[in-house]
Amino acid sequence: MSNELYRKIVEISGRNPYLCYQCGTCTAVCPVSVFMDVKPHQIIRYIQLKRIDLEKLKSIWTCLACMACVDRCPRHVDPGIIFEAVRNLVLRRGEDAVDYFKLKDLDKVPTMALIALSRKMTG
Ligand code: SF4
Repeated sequence: MSNELYRKIVEISGRNPYLCYQCGTCTAVCPVSVFMDVKPHQIIRYIQLKRIDLEKLKSIWTCLACMACVDRCPRHVDPGIIFEAVRNLVLRRGEDAVDYFKLKDLDKVPTMALIALSRKMTG
C-alpha cells in the first residue's frame, strides 16, 4: 500500500489507524467476521503496516456497515468508517469522485456500496 493510498484512507475516514492497539473488540462484535478472509482488527493492523492489497480484500465487501465496531472501539479507530473509505477508494480506482447515478451496470455494484450511499444521502 502506497503512502498516498494510506493518506487518502485517513483523509476520507477522518480516523487514525495508528491508535489501534489490537484489542480485537471490533472482530468480536462484528456479526459477519466469521465470513471474512481477514478480520477487522487484522485489516487495521495491515493498514498500520501499509501492507495490504485492497483489490483482493474480500472482507471490505463482507462488512455490512452495521457500525457495531464503531460503537465499541475503545480507541475511536472505528474500523467500519475506515472500511467505507477503503470501499470508496477501490470504487474510485484513481478518479477524484464517484457519481453513483452515472455508474453503468448498477446491478453489478456491490450492495454494500449502495447501502453506504443511501446512508450518506439520508444522514
Ligand atoms: Fe483496534 Fe478498535 Fe478494533 Fe480494538 S476495537 S482492535 S482498538 S480497531
